[in-house]
Parts: sequence; structure tokens; C-alpha cells
Amino acid sequence: MLKVLFIASECDPFAKTGGLGDVVGSLPLALRKMRIDARVIIPKYGNIPAEYKKEMIHKKTLTIPVGWRNQYGGLEILDVMDRDGVPYYFLDNETYFKRDGLYGYYDEAERFSYFCRGVLECIPYMDFEPQILHCNDWQTGLVPLFLKEFYKDKPLYEKMKTVFTIHNLKYQGIFPMEVLNDVLGLDQAYSGYEGIEFNSNVNFMKAGIVSSDMVTTVSKTYSQEIKLPYYGENLDGLLRKYEDKLQGIVNGIDYNKYNPETDPHIYVNYRSSITKKEQNKAKLQEDLGFPIENVPVVAMVSRLTSQKGLDIFVHILEELLSLDLQLVILGTGDYKYEQILRNAAERHPQKMRALIMFNEDLACKIYASSDLYLMPSLFEPCGLSQLIALRYGSLPVVRETGGLQDTVTSYNEKTGEGNGFSFTNFNAHDFLHTIKRALSIYNDHKSVWNKIVKNALKSNFNWIGSAKKYQQLYETLLSDQADERDSSPSKILRIG
Ligand code: ADP
Repeated sequence: MLKVLFIASECDPFAKTGGLGDVVGSLPLALRKMRIDARVIIPKYGNIPAEYKKEMIHKKTLTIPVGWRNQYGGLEILDVMDRDGVPYYFLDNETYFKRDGLYGYYDEAERFSYFCRGVLECIPYMDFEPQILHCNDWQTGLVPLFLKEFYKDKPLYEKMKTVFTIHNLKYQGIFPMEVLNDVLGLDQAYSGYEGIEFNSNVNFMKAGIVSSDMVTTVSKTYSQEIKLPYYGENLDGLLRKYEDKLQGIVNGIDYNKYNPETDPHIYVNYRSSITKKEQNKAKLQEDLGFPIENVPVVAMVSRLTSQKGLDIFVHILEELLSLDLQLVILGTGDYKYEQILRNAAERHPQKMRALIMFNEDLACKIYASSDLYLMPSLFEPCGLSQLIALRYGSLPVVRETGGLQDTVTSYNEKTGEGNGFSFTNFNAHDFLHTIKRALSIYNDHKSVWNKIVKNALKSNFNWIGSAKKYQQLYETLLSDQADERDSSPSKILRIG
């Protein structure tokens, strides 16, 4: 049986700030259904819910090297049977991880360098010998580097292959050069120095790209875009250099978790009934204190950052609010956007709510109750929110970039195809125009609207197709290894 260890800084339902947590929470489940022994390791953060913490079993106490220091490491395990038996491992060190939230501390380089080294130290005690280490984003970028540098000669590790998945190229983990020696325990004479050096700093994401056997990103379009300067975040040259090992595999979502038929968070469960969806809308209008009337409810559930297209969104906000609709925004992020949205909501109490918080229960209610879902991203590696919106029959309005381009097809009047609406350029009035186009269908052509909602509900972005692509990738990596062995001099010698 193929054995894969997912290494990540987030995993739903233990710790999540965005799409990474969703993916690490759901892809291993899908792989296990395909008889792959997929397991997960994340840091044991202080704010993992107590119900999980109390079930964790301490497996081993270890010493983890961090530069010139040795730090405590505790390997804990949790078997969650109601999640199809994925074994979850947690690396415990309260100094590094018992803090509020997941990220944003002064010692991020040390915390995640410790985590990467710690995962490799834990492997002998997992009762599990992974063939593939599947790393995710910059927080785990040092795993392939450390594997090569410190572990490759040990029998347990020598055949291990690494996959590095870029969920968002914008966040790279760039730190001052001192970190190289002080935290990683390497120096500038180190043979792989070029693979981590970046404008005289160290770059954890670069290390992941250079040192891993295979690099993936979370949609086909994004895997092409990041080779261009506009999307490449200064790593486009590097990605062009390594394009032979770069592949795009679109994310799915957990169709059991996000299921309007069974979702316990929403007001009225439904499969394809427009009437029941409207009942959800009336309840949300009531909860939010909006007039309960048949106007389109337009929604956004998002980090409030420039990536998510907030600049063009706030640019057209007043014009949008002059239309006959109700607008609900759920999100947290940059203070300037939070303030603009709060102010607009205060000025338009009958039409707009700005819910500045992270709340998964409300998020589900909003997906289920809204008619139109806005995602005008500047760039979007994959995007899960539009997939959740489709699943709940809220029609996405997206900019054609990254995963949005790969998952949303703009409604085509001639063919009747399409599950949403899209626009090409990052332009505020193109965005507004596209929203108006959608609203005119909602207001004047209800049967067409209902047809597009049905198309959205029929779109299929569960994990099955993409999990098969990951399986192929793992198998290819392991068969390459077998090929290498067959033609290696030692093998020839032995035969001779
Ligand atoms: P990203 O990972 O870039 O933030 P994605 O669209 O890939 O964006 O994933 C975002 C995930 O986080 C979705 O599951 C979305 O519903 C959820 N989310 C974002 N903001 C909030 C919020 N304020 N409250 C609850 N869930 C949120």
C-alpha cells in the first residue's frame, strides 16, 4: 500500500485559517478511500479544540536540533475514527506553538524550521514508514532540504521522495541570512546554498521548490501563471527553470462536509430545491435584520486582502449599493478594508452588513442563503470559496485567473452552459458590469437564473478526480526511483 505523510501548518478541523486547512483536512481522506495510507502531521497549536487534545496519545519524547540548540519535541497521535480513520500526528512544543493564532510571530523562521526538522526526527517513531513526504507551502519548505542534507544516508530515509505543493506563492517565508546558521544549522559554504539564498536572505519556499522531487500547485492555470513576472512573486525565473517538475492539480472540497442536504449549520437543508434555498435566504435576512423581501442577496466570505480583489470591490461599493440588492460580507484582514466595509454598512443599514470575524457557522449560512457570490481576485491559486458557493447554488462572479478560471464557466446565452459569471481584466467597472449582467438575469429571466443555479449545483469538484492525479504523481515518483535503482552502478555490480 502506498504510504504518504502530509506535512502542513494547518489541517481542518484542528487548525485552519484558509484553503490550506481545508485541503489538508480533506485530500488525505480522499486518498485513503483509494487505499492509500495517507497520514498528516501538524504542529500542536495551543488553540486546537480541547475535544481533540484530550484524545491525543503521547508516543515519544524527542530532542530536536535547531541550529546549535536542542529543543524538546513531543510526538502525539490521534486516530479519529469518524473521519475515516486518518491517523493525525502532532508535534508538541509549547514554547513554539502554545500561542494565540497560528502565525504572525517574530520567530516564524525558528518555529517552522523546528517543525520541519522535528517531523523528520519523529518519523522513526510513527509506526509508519512513509514513501512520500508531501509538503505544503513555505512552512514546510525545509523538509526536502533537511532530508537531503541530514537524513538521506540513513536507511529509513534513503528512498523517501518529496512533493512540495504551492498553495500560495505570495507567502514565501523570507528571513535574514543569520537564520541559515543560527536556526537551520547550515553555513554559506553549504553545497545547497544557492537553493535557499534569495536576494541575500533565506527563502523557505525557494528551498521547497529547489529541493523537492516534484512541485505542484493547486490549479493548472496558476501553474502556468506563476512562470510569468506578473504572478511569479519574483520566483518566476526559478519556476521556469524547474518547470519540468511543476504540475497543476486543481483542489476539490469535502462533499460530505460541504453538503446542503446534511449541513447542520444551515437553516433548511436542501438538494436542488430553489424554494428551500429561498427559505434559507429569508432566515438569514431575519437574522441580519434586513427587510425580508425578494431581492438578490450578494455575498463574500473572504480574507480581506488585496489578493481577494478588495481594491476593485471597494471602488465600486457605493455604485453596487445603489442597486436593488442586499450585501453581506464575512471576513477579516487588512484594517483599511475592514474600516471601509464597516463604514459602508453603517451608512446602508437596510442593505449591507460587514461581519468582521472568522465564523464557519455563519459562513455556511451565507453560502446557503445567498444568490450571488463575489470573488474578483487579483490572483487565485485555486480558491475554495467559489467551489463551496457552487455546491450551495450561490452563483459565483469571478475574475478569470488561476483556479477561478479552471472552475467557473461564465454563463453563455447561446449554449445555455455556465455555472456563474466571469470577467477578464482586473478592472472595477468590468467587475460591476458583470454583477449587473447577473442581476439582470436574476430580475428579468428567472427561469434562466434557475437553470444556471441547477448547473452550479451539478458542477462536480469533489476530490475523486484530483486525488487520482496525486496518486499517479506518487506512483510515477516511486517508479522513477525503481528505474534509477535498476540502472544504478551498484545494481549492475551486484548482478555482475
Ligand atoms: P484562501 O485560502 O486564499 O483564504 P480559499 O478560497 O482557498 O481562500 O479558502 C478560504 C476558506 O476559508 C473557505 O473555506 C472559506 O469559506 C473560509 N473563510 C474565509 N474567511 C472566512 C471567515 N471570515 N469565516 C469563516 N470562514 C472563512
